[in-house]
Amino acid sequence: MDAALELTEDDVRCPSCSSVQFVGVQVFGVYDGVLYWECAACGHRWHRFPAGHHLHHRAAAYLAEPEPMPVIDGAPDKSCPVTH
Ligand SMILES: [Zn+2]
Repeated sequence: MDAALELTEDDVRCPSCSSVQFVGVQVFGVYDGVLYWECAACGHRWHRFPAGHHLHHRAAAYLAEPEPMPVIDGAPDKSCPVTH
């Protein structure tokens, strides 16, 4: 049971866009319940469990999925096939 897990201020709003429209994501085979939160408005994901919790560690693998990286200023764009 998760009765001891009380929602904090950070759990009731998306930390990225402050939307309250977010969902609990359950990952089958990892945890029979909400493993982390995902914002329905902006897609931001954040932890349900506090750092140090073993499920925080498990969730980290999913929360760490790469997001579009910003272009680094000044770095030569070797990956671009088009020569400008
Ligand atoms: Zn959001």
